[in-house]
Formats: sequence, C-alpha cells, structure tokens
Amino acid sequence: MGEARARQRIPEIRDVQTVNAAARLAARWEELDAGSGFAVVPRWPEPDPLLVALGEVAAQGIRLFTGEDWEKVRACPAPGCVLYFVKSPVRREWCTTACGNRVRVARHSRRARSRECGGDDA
Ligand SMILES: [Zn+2]
Repeated sequence: MGEARARQRIPEIRDVQTVNAAARLAARWEELDAGSGFAVVPRWPEPDPLLVALGEVAAQGIRLFTGEDWEKVRACPAPGCVLYFVKSPVRREWCTTACGNRVRVARHSRRARSRECGGDDA
C-alpha cells in the first residue's frame, strides 16, 4: 500500500481489502461510564487489544496515504527499513534520525575499509 502511494500508483485490490479489513478493527464509540457522572469510556466491538491496535495502524495509514500531504509520502531509502514518512521539511531523507545515522555510519565504515585496502571509494 505504502509503496503504491510513494510511487503514485494505484494500489492492488487485495492490499486495499487487507487495509480496509484491518481498519474496521479500530471502529469504536464512546459511552458514559455508569455511576461516574460524565466520564467517557471508549468501546470497541473487537475484544483483542492487539487487533484494535492493528486497526488503528491501518486507519492511520489510510489517513496518511489520503491526507493533504499524500504527495510527500516517501519510502525510507535506508537498507532494510520498511517505513514510510512525510517528506517535511523538504530536506528530510530518512524516516527517523536512527536510519540516517545507520546509513552514515555504514558509508563511513565502507570508506574507511576502502582506504585501508588502498581503494579510492569516495
Ligand atoms: Zn527508515
């Protein structure tokens, strides 16, 4: 789903169905807590809190991929990272500073090894 959005392509039907099914798990309403005045208690039809959390992730993904910043959605280019982020500010390159630091450290190590071996990797 994220890859389709980041590349500005139409998502696969099965991906849309998967995200929609997960997003339904986050459906909730609020009730008044009996006997405590106007205390509000959130309720979910799904009893498993992990599935509710999965639903929240799916619902947030839908908002991210369809919200006003959808054109700024990027896949993190760090090797092994599967996250997406909104490229804002415009100079942002990574999903988190941890990914940026990991790439910089790997690049530095590669250059240092290259120098030790007499290579000219710059
Ligand atoms: Zn990343």
